[in-house]
Amino acid sequence: MPVSTIGAPRQLLRRLREVMAERESAQARLDKVAVLIASNMVAEVCSIYLRRRDDSLELFATEGLNPEAVHNTHLKPGEGLVGLIAIQAEPMQFPDAQHHPAFSYRPETGEEIYHSFLGVPILRGGHTIGVLTVQNRTMRQYSDEEVEALQTTAMVLAEMIASGGLGVTEEVSAEPRRDLAARFTGLPISEGVALGHVVLHEPRIVVTRLIAEDVELERRRLAQAIEELTGMIDGMLERGDMARAGEHREVLEAFRMFAHDHGWRRRLDEALLTGLTAEAAVQRVRNDTRARMLRQTDPHARDRLHDIDDLSNRLLRLLSGGAGTAAAGNLPQDAVLIARTMGPAELLDYDRQRLRGLVLEEGGAASHVAIVARALGIAAITQVKGVLDAVEAGDAIIVDAEGGELHVRPTQEVVSAYADKVRFRARRQAQYAALRNVPAVTLDGERIALHINAGLLFDLPHLDQSGADGIGLFRTELQFMISSTFPRLEQQTRLYKAILDTAGDRPVVFRSLDVGGDKVLPFFRASKEENPAIGWRAIRMALDRPALFRTQIRALLRAAHGRELRIMLPMIADVSELKAARALIDREVDILKRHGRPEPKGLMIGAMIEVPALLWQLDRVLPMADFASVGSNDLMQFLFAADRGNMRVSERFDSLNPAGLKALRVIVAAAEKHNVPLTLCGEMAGRPLEAMAIIGLGFRSISMAPASVGPVKAMILSLDAGNLRQRLEELLECTDTSLREDLKRFAAEKGVQI
Ligand code: PEP
Ligand code: MG
Repeated sequence: MPVSTIGAPRQLLRRLREVMAERESAQARLDKVAVLIASNMVAEVCSIYLRRRDDSLELFATEGLNPEAVHNTHLKPGEGLVGLIAIQAEPMQFPDAQHHPAFSYRPETGEEIYHSFLGVPILRGGHTIGVLTVQNRTMRQYSDEEVEALQTTAMVLAEMIASGGLGVTEEVSAEPRRDLAARFTGLPISEGVALGHVVLHEPRIVVTRLIAEDVELERRRLAQAIEELTGMIDGMLERGDMARAGEHREVLEAFRMFAHDHGWRRRLDEALLTGLTAEAAVQRVRNDTRARMLRQTDPHARDRLHDIDDLSNRLLRLLSGGAGTAAAGNLPQDAVLIARTMGPAELLDYDRQRLRGLVLEEGGAASHVAIVARALGIAAITQVKGVLDAVEAGDAIIVDAEGGELHVRPTQEVVSAYADKVRFRARRQAQYAALRNVPAVTLDGERIALHINAGLLFDLPHLDQSGADGIGLFRTELQFMISSTFPRLEQQTRLYKAILDTAGDRPVVFRSLDVGGDKVLPFFRASKEENPAIGWRAIRMALDRPALFRTQIRALLRAAHGRELRIMLPMIADVSELKAARALIDREVDILKRHGRPEPKGLMIGAMIEVPALLWQLDRVLPMADFASVGSNDLMQFLFAADRGNMRVSERFDSLNPAGLKALRVIVAAAEKHNVPLTLCGEMAGRPLEAMAIIGLGFRSISMAPASVGPVKAMILSLDAGNLRQRLEELLECTDTSLREDLKRFAAEKGVQI
């Protein structure tokens, strides 16, 4: 039998397109497709099996097998060679098929006379939706080109089936199912319940033009797009422009590696040569990658395939001229964003008025996008595996960031249940609002100061709305992270002044720039670091590059204009750092005075306690600080050596673990001893159960996302702090794992509202 030439598949694709355009019944067209493939491949048999909704593989059309078998032969996944290919999602060939142990003889087909067999999966989105086979009487080996040609044909068939072009979409299972209700679970990162409609952060590209008119032209288009893509990735790596895209350097580096990968490029080239358009070739290679990804159990290998999949997506978007995210398009009024990952700045690109929720496949609860989601007050959950595969833009969706659940295309019953839940929440919110002016005092008379964490202008209304006592942590880096150039002195001064004006006599704690780690500035070139969270960041950068720090201090002093000013220094690890920073601040105050500008009425300089080394220097550091604030996000990540942004480890150690709580207890005792005002401003302060534990340890001031003030205050109003302190002391001495369950029991017993 002659080996197919490269020209043959192209011809076949062209003929396929013509058949598809004919005005005949779906069956007649499928039959013709089988005839076409058989003749093109010089095979005596060509059969098309499609996966039905019940998962069985049904013979839908054949050339060469007994026509009676059509719609009568069914195979289960895994059954026979066809079932095997469906499960493996890979092409397979057998020169002597009948003697293969998996061969399942079906007398109705009359296939016993055919020896050689080649089958390829019909893949869509990485899922097998059918199997395409050819058979020959003689025992033979099919060439690589033939396998490739059959795969390309299968891809075109898959797209035609999915787009309704074959009129069988209703009957077959074009997985993944994007039409039935589905439920997912994930990790809540920002409180709330949202009912809305899906917006894919990176819009999916539907490839409609599959068959090339001019192969050379398609090759040029693809080469150009790859060049553009690699240029983009190189540029991002060079500029350190990762924050916008929410990607870590490693992911971009993996992208760069794959973009230059010969294997990937060769596969694209081969797909092009079979007569596909550039888009279809990318889609074809992506399908194979996805199929491998879905079968992969090794998480590392799966991640790598995920990267290639993402890369293909980008390439597709470039080819179709739509490289942007959904932020640039028309958003529904109740948008729920779905993304694999996202950076804080990218989230801020969206129109807040239209955002209801955010769902991520990856990312930890203490990541910066989570912090921004909380600041925006949108319901958000992360670590929702596989959600991108299951949704279509415009699908109805419910994000339940209380229970950590996600309902895609919910049934009417689920919608009504959630409508009830939303009403209940609204009532609760009303209760919280009613508490707005009620001071947070425990049952035994302890007044707890509740502050909010903020970082941008849009946080300002939250101060009044939440009824908080002040801003306990103003993350100044957020302004830097969302700018495309360095915010100048005047810009910084304007923002800080607006904050102080709004706060009036409520205290505001400005934290000096904490960049580095996952807080990367788009315009700031930092050198590559192995461990950025413990690298050149925060106060380390400020002391090494004082110009940046001094500009910020100058802006703060000018904004204060004679008023009280609190400056907090992040990542202090050593007493000398606090001294050096203080000296720099003093110098700026001198300059201010020399220029005849008013000095702040009270200038307070505080240290963040977030580097564990400080725990053994508290007696030295605290007397030098006007106040201190525990950054529990970092303190816990360093104490447990568990990266807060890496979901594989960030949830591994509970912040209610006795080790973490004992560390906090040591800090409280030292602050009391030195009479230094102490706050805790990490994310744990905003969760009622954790906040309860913190208060039990002796904290009397905490700072949290604005939406948490109500629930935390309700908890405080129902808590007897003395009672808890005693229980906590006992528990800390006899428990060697998280106290979460014990503390929940305590709350239930004592009627504490958590
Ligand atoms: C912390 O580390 O707990 C903290 C409040 O700071 P950030 O989350 O900005 O690092
Ligand atoms: Mg920190």
